[in-house]
Amino acid sequence: MKFEVYDARAVQLIRPTDYWAVISIVSGGCAWPEIPVNPWFRGRLNLVFEDVGQDGASAAASGFTTEHAERILDFYTEMRPRIELLVIHCLVGISRSPAVAAALTTLEGEVDVHWFYQKRPNRLVYRTLLEQAERRGLWQRTLRGVDGEALTAADSTAGPAFGAASASSLPPCPRRAATSARIDRFQGGLVGSAIGDAVGELAFGALSAEHLEECIGNGTLHYTDDTAMALAIAEVLERDGDLGAERLGAAFATRYRQEPWRGYGPGAPSIFRTVQDTGCSFEEAARRSYGGQGSFGNGAAMRVAPVGLFYAGSSELEAKARLSALPTHAHPVAADGAAVLAWAIGTVSRLGAGQPLLRDALLDGMAAVAQTALFRNQLAALARHLAAASPPETAILELGWSQRADESVPFALFAFFTHPDDFAACVHCAVLHGGDCDTLGAMAGALSGARLGHGALPRPWRDQLENATMIAQLASRLAALAPEP
Ligand SMILES: [Mg+2]
Repeated sequence: MKFEVYDARAVQLIRPTDYWAVISIVSGGCAWPEIPVNPWFRGRLNLVFEDVGQDGASAAASGFTTEHAERILDFYTEMRPRIELLVIHCLVGISRSPAVAAALTTLEGEVDVHWFYQKRPNRLVYRTLLEQAERRGLWQRTLRGVDGEALTAADSTAGPAFGAASASSLPPCPRRAATSARIDRFQGGLVGSAIGDAVGELAFGALSAEHLEECIGNGTLHYTDDTAMALAIAEVLERDGDLGAERLGAAFATRYRQEPWRGYGPGAPSIFRTVQDTGCSFEEAARRSYGGQGSFGNGAAMRVAPVGLFYAGSSELEAKARLSALPTHAHPVAADGAAVLAWAIGTVSRLGAGQPLLRDALLDGMAAVAQTALFRNQLAALARHLAAASPPETAILELGWSQRADESVPFALFAFFTHPDDFAACVHCAVLHGGDCDTLGAMAGALSGARLGHGALPRPWRDQLENATMIAQLASRLAALAPEP
């Protein structure tokens, strides 16, 4: 289980996408913070006590007691089988909440010293919790510090005594995917996006799914600029472990010069030429484009799958997705397209196989990511059409499907949400209704592949995709390098 500690202000801004619960600690007379509840939320424990007894002194009457410790242990024992994340907050997030986090980290059989480097855990809280846990047989100390306090976890071979979960109507927590499953999702997202891109490119002239399959035939599926730029991002992430706008711009430009025939529109190559001719930065060239407002096209969203997968579950995800737009797309609507799609890809990639999609929660999450009214309005329209089970032909009339980010990203999401468990049906829906077919396919394919995994991609399409092995291997290496959220 993960533990996160916040102060009373920051805890009101969190939006976990793990199954989670919260321990809320306030001082007497203080208001309880408004903690946002979402479908992954499983429970809350409210406690009132003062931050006293820090230096080994006895607690005042209003300080932490064995009764508080018992309530925390009851809550922890009840929640443990069904959550992945326990959020703990107090007023400042320095003393009381880290003490609880440190003690519970010890009960998990893990080393808790990082809490003492980063914070000043309240020693009375920490010691009382561990003493009560020891009395319950939840933990057994093996070493003592110079002041007699417990320092390390119990004999790990014995393990915490949490075998028997109490009966509950709540479902058990779907534990985080194993490494092989994580690789499968990364490969599914990147290869799925490339397949969607290539199939979509062929769909520009297709009249039906059958006609599209005839167009595909037994030949090679060639991807376009969408995938070329996504691969550039993935390679920068692999090389640097991070993203920078200028490094990304240089990687895009190099890819373009190597393979200018990948179907690039006029925008990005024009920026590459401006940088080459004037020596300005990619960001500056992107800002100057389209009359000084920057592009609001879908070029940043179409390539964002590696960002969503790499930063899945990280608080950095949205910022990194927006940063990945900067070298070519300066308009806030384009950045919204990249951020919303990256968040969606990252979030669905972390759902366990066969887990419900929690569509409404995902829609709410995306609406919170979008910063422009235009994009939020489009996401609201998407939600309406999904709720009404509109056919794609009807949804398109309101959403659109052009090269604008605020049109094509919502329609790719529509295709995904209407076919959440069938990659081919999702891609067909995205690419067979006109519009910017290759990019619609790339975005829908990234979402579906990230959710379903590489193994769920249709075998013929996988076999026909050019450079499929190279893309899958790059995805696998990226999965190994990505930070553990
Ligand atoms: Mg393209």
